Amino acid sequence: MMVLTKKMIEIRSILQKVGQSSTLTLPSIVVIGSQSSGKSSVLEAIVGHEFLPKGSNMVTRRPIELTLVNTPGSREEYGEFPDLGLRRITDFSSIQRTLTELNLAVPDSECVSDDPIHLTVYSPNVPDLSLIDLPGYIQVVGQNQPLQLKQKIIELCDKYIQPPNVILAISAADVDLANSTALRASRRVDPRGERTIGVITKMDLVDPRRGAAMLNDKQYPLRLGYVGVVSKAPQSQGLFKIGTQTNLLSTIVKQENAFFSSHPLEYGPEAGLDVGTTTLRKKLMHVLEQTMSSSLQSTSDAIKQELEEATYEFKVQYNDRPLSAESYLAESLDAFKHSFKQFTEGFGRPQMHELLKGELDQKVLDLLAARYWNKPIEDLTAAKPEPDSIADLPRSDPDSLYWRRQLDASTSALTKLGVGRLATTVVASSIQAQIDRLVSQSSFSSHPFAREAIMEATSTILNERYYSTSDQVENCIKPFKFEVDIDEREWAHGREHVQGVLKKELKDCESALTGLENTVGGRRKLKEVMAFVDKARKGDIVIEGDGRSGAGGFSAALLSRGREAVFLRDRADIIKMRLMAVKSKQCANLKNKYYCPEVFLDAAASKLASTAVLFLNVELLSEFYYNFPRELDLRLGRHLSEAEVERFAKEDPKIRHHLEVIRRKELLELVLDKMESLRQLEGKERDRRGIG
Ligand code: GDP
Repeated sequence: MMVLTKKMIEIRSILQKVGQSSTLTLPSIVVIGSQSSGKSSVLEAIVGHEFLPKGSNMVTRRPIELTLVNTPGSREEYGEFPDLGLRRITDFSSIQRTLTELNLAVPDSECVSDDPIHLTVYSPNVPDLSLIDLPGYIQVVGQNQPLQLKQKIIELCDKYIQPPNVILAISAADVDLANSTALRASRRVDPRGERTIGVITKMDLVDPRRGAAMLNDKQYPLRLGYVGVVSKAPQSQGLFKIGTQTNLLSTIVKQENAFFSSHPLEYGPEAGLDVGTTTLRKKLMHVLEQTMSSSLQSTSDAIKQELEEATYEFKVQYNDRPLSAESYLAESLDAFKHSFKQFTEGFGRPQMHELLKGELDQKVLDLLAARYWNKPIEDLTAAKPEPDSIADLPRSDPDSLYWRRQLDASTSALTKLGVGRLATTVVASSIQAQIDRLVSQSSFSSHPFAREAIMEATSTILNERYYSTSDQVENCIKPFKFEVDIDEREWAHGREHVQGVLKKELKDCESALTGLENTVGGRRKLKEVMAFVDKARKGDIVIEGDGRSGAGGFSAALLSRGREAVFLRDRADIIKMRLMAVKSKQCANLKNKYYCPEVFLDAAASKLASTAVLFLNVELLSEFYYNFPRELDLRLGRHLSEAEVERFAKEDPKIRHHLEVIRRKELLELVLDKMESLRQLEGKERDRRGIG
């Protein structure tokens, strides 16, 4: 019953997924032989296809771990390179090309590499086998080959011909067996000839009597015996290449039968010798099955030990906490949605109003600076204020057309500055920043993929709403472009609020001044250069060339700092004066709006903000709050493939390790389970044979 090898090959492919377990190797058949001994021909005859790299130069530079999987009932034959993700290659010449490329990729300096190439061939015509093809031994180092090559190949082969592997030692019949490098290597590691199969190729090249004597070799007797073959592939005939289309094996077998049966005396049944590729295949299957069977126990033990280690690690490092990539993603997503929900509860109309108003406050300050504060301030207050005359500060003519026009123009500028876009931009970028903050605080922070998906979800929704929202907002504030009506209550509120704005601006000016003091090296120095700038401005001093190369003993850089400082000081003075004005009795009265543009513009800005926010809420915020969780589900929810979820989870090194430990544990448990049933099956089989 040849089921064991198949099952063990399955188990081996599971173990390969476990990774990093060099101890868990199941027995294979290792193929060694000198160059040109016919090693490739034998392997290709077994597989039934030409697929190995060919060439005058040595091309096998990496071990090829070849797994043959018998697929009864199917007609298809194909190969796969699982490590490269190359599946279902039905064209064997393409397999050959890939193998050649992989081999040639090993740099000359390395000579050979012990990193194996994994190739699996599925076919109804192959037996279940696990073979390892190694670089052929070389006798003389070729002209273009590195000197250490010969030694490196020997070392590589030595690594593989250790127990429990079976050695398939290939020797050509036309070379004296005593000179066979393969048999000599084998003898070193298997002196009693217990796990070596001798293959003598090119039997057609020697006299049958000599050939038969070789198969009976007594110099190095092998328990598993010698097999003679003639596996030379028939020559390709023009375009019709035999190897790739027809099964190579049947051609070779025919050829062998013709040859061996033409020498019945030496190779006939009476001679009791093993000849032919079919015999070789059977022997390989049988031997591998036996070897697998006898290594069941030790492999089981090794797996048990590995499993114990994984279990221990799981317990100690992860407290036996179960985790899967899906559950991790689902939990992370839930937690993120939860934090988003919390955010939505704290961010609504009042918060949007505050944001927008803050932005408009800046615009109001700019307008004031451009339209009012740059004028000799006396114009506005009619007289330079004395400290004791603060109470009656604004004194300009209430009927002055000039001041009326100034306020109307400022208000118009405020309403026409593009409030729709400004409001939408401010709120959208605030939402974006908030989401970014939520991501950084969530477990998604260490997942670039999720991070990107979330940011994309955010900007997709916001971008979709952007134009319609800003249009709507712009439309709804349209009436204010013609008239802004302020009532007493709004005036009072504006007066209160703008004081805070002015105070803050004053503070900013003052701290900028202090900052300048520090950059020029102290207050005194700054004062000096400011005094110089003041004098120059009054015309007391003439600065040549605009002070580009310095003046008055000050460098150009210092002079520009001085000008900046003078500007800040003047601005601070004006703001102080305007603060007094706003606080004064006159400004308490809406009627005096022309002397108190700060209050009026503040109140107007509040009206704009309140109206804008109503629409922002409907058009942008509510839409976002509704769509965002759905968009998240779409991008990070059930729609992701298993591989994507896996890739996502593994982006976090901690999670990756946790998942790997669990996976290793599960795979090992699975393997152990399979091994146990196999052992029981084996036991029953033995009992049956014992009884029978
Ligand atoms: P490798 O270098 O050991 O892989 O050897 P190959 O399989 O490439 O064979 C070397 C050469 O020997 C090729 O030209 C084959 O055609 C030839 N050859 C292989 N097996 C036989 C055989 O059984 N009989 C004869 N006459 N030639 C063979």
